[in-house]
Formats: sequence, structure tokens, C-alpha cells
Amino acid sequence: MAFLGSAVRRIRAEVSEQLGLYARMRSRLDGTRAAILMYHRVLPDERALELAVEPGMYVTPETFARHLDWLCERFCVLSLGELANRLEAGAPLPLQSCAITFDDGWRDNWQYVLPALRRRSLPATVFVVAERMDSLGAFWPDEVSRRFRALEPEQQRSLAACFGLEKARNPAQETLARFKGYSEEQRDEALARMREFTKNLDLPQERELMTWQEADQMAAGGVEIESHGLTHALMTGFPPDRLERELRESRRILREHGHGLRGFLAYPNGNHDRSVRTLARECGYGLAVTTERGLAHAETPRMALPRLGLHQDISGSRAEFHRIVPGSGLHRGRPGPPRRPTNRSRRRS
Ligand SMILES: [Zn+2]
Repeated sequence: MAFLGSAVRRIRAEVSEQLGLYARMRSRLDGTRAAILMYHRVLPDERALELAVEPGMYVTPETFARHLDWLCERFCVLSLGELANRLEAGAPLPLQSCAITFDDGWRDNWQYVLPALRRRSLPATVFVVAERMDSLGAFWPDEVSRRFRALEPEQQRSLAACFGLEKARNPAQETLARFKGYSEEQRDEALARMREFTKNLDLPQERELMTWQEADQMAAGGVEIESHGLTHALMTGFPPDRLERELRESRRILREHGHGLRGFLAYPNGNHDRSVRTLARECGYGLAVTTERGLAHAETPRMALPRLGLHQDISGSRAEFHRIVPGSGLHRGRPGPPRRPTNRSRRRS
């Protein structure tokens, strides 16, 4: 069914592209708005399968390279820093402006993204989880998926039943959804139960997140390293002191390592509310990005800039990419934007 869904999506995007239905969206990137692209992991399909990475979390290195080539043809890729400066100053943006961002600080960003960006002299921003730098493994949702995947179907059902999901049709997905609704303490307790239930599994942990040294290399290659919180805990619903620790400590640790120079923040899972935004400002952040879909313009609140999320199952073909990123397609119904970014616009800030 999933395959059928993605095939239908691809065909629909192709037909719309041919009919020029996306061309009108191009005019929206007219020098007053910019697209902030959001990626997570960049991994070959077989590695994603091996690590039980959800389709919504990665693009393959080949797809990513194609995205960059399409961007180079039609877009002016700015660093998020330069984009922020222009929005702040009310200065016009180049036509078809965009910035490229990555969440979480995956090691694969260093492995695949850095060389691809360098080859094309493109800037980007990576939002890292300060306390998880240099650590083994990934995040708790990855652990849940991997533990389920290593079990036989009958054991999967028994494990889901430990969390009140006796009738789960998809034990892994439904348990994951249940865990997302837990408080931090409840989730820690549930994870401990899950580890006990699956203690006989051999699940070797490898380093999937970046080291500080890799972050330094990315920064030297023109990538801004900014904050995605201290632990990747969702920032809404915390008491103020816990929230302040997430915001202040992550900023302090980043700066101690020579990063976080711009004071940018990406809310984990995109979760934010008025108290999160206010405290983030008080802690020294001047710009924050969300996971809400949209384009950024001068009037967009700086602490809630929307992004356009990209992942393999929705952006493998050019027509699909165009459906998400307006103005990146081949349709010639409107005057085209600049073919290449200017030196000035490619300058890193
Ligand atoms: Zn994240």
C-alpha cells in the first residue's frame, strides 16, 4: 500500500508539473519570500533499512545531490545567517532565495552532506543536540523501532501489550505513538521496561550522531552549527526551569565548542508555544525555525520561521521536489529566476 501511495503521489506530481500547475507558485519566491528547506538524515536506502530509519527521516545521497543540482540551476542558496540579516534589515532577497537546514546533527551529514555542499560551494545550517554530540546510538524513537524490528511478530504483539496495546495492528507504530504521548518520566520508565523485555537481543550501538571534531570540519566547510536543544526533549509542557536548562545549556555548550555563533534554534519536533519562544529570546536566541510548512518573509515572526520538509518518499523525482519547493521544476510558463547564485549571495555569513 505504501508503494502504491508513493507511486500515485509521483504520477500526480508529474502530471501537475506537465500542466504547469506549480508554475504560478514560482512567483511567490519573488524577492520578498524565501524557502527554508529542512532535511534530517542522508543515507543510502540499504543503510536506512538496516537502521530501521523511518522514510520521513532521510533522503539518499543521490537524491540529495539531485536536489542540490536543481537548486543550483534555479535558486539562490543563502546561508540562514544571511537570510536572517536580509529579513532583519528589510533588504530585498534575491529571486528564488532558499536556505538549507538539517536537524539533529547526524554523522551522515558530515559523511554525505559536507562533500556535496563543498563541491557546489553551498552554505547550510545544521541544528545539533548539544548533549548528544560524541555519543553512541540515536534517539529513543529509533531505539523503539529497532527493538520491535528485531522481534518475531508474536513477540512484537506481546511487547505492545506491555503498554496497553493488546489489539495493535501495527505494534511498532502504535507503541511509538503511545510513547510520544508520555511525559519524560513515563517514557524513561517505559523504555526501561522495553529494554528489560528485549534484553536478550543483540543490538550493537554505533555512533550515528556527529562528534565535535566533525562539527568543526563542517563549520570550516561553511556550515553553521546551531542549537536543536540540549537533549532533544520536546520544549512544550516543561516547567520553566527545565525548559531554561534545555535552551541555556545547549547554547552554552555550543559556544564553548566554538559553535552556535548565530544564536539560531530549531525546536525539537517543531514544538513551540509563546512561553518557549519568549524564554528562547531571553536565553539569547534571535531566530528559531519550526517544522510548520511555509515560506519566510519580512513579517514572519523570527522565532517561528516555517520550513519545507524534504525526505526520500516525497521528493525523489523532480516533479515531486517541485511540488514541495516552488519554482524548482522545468516548466517554462514564467520567466526563470537566476540560473546560478551570485558570489555575493553565496558568501557565507
Ligand atoms: Zn530533531
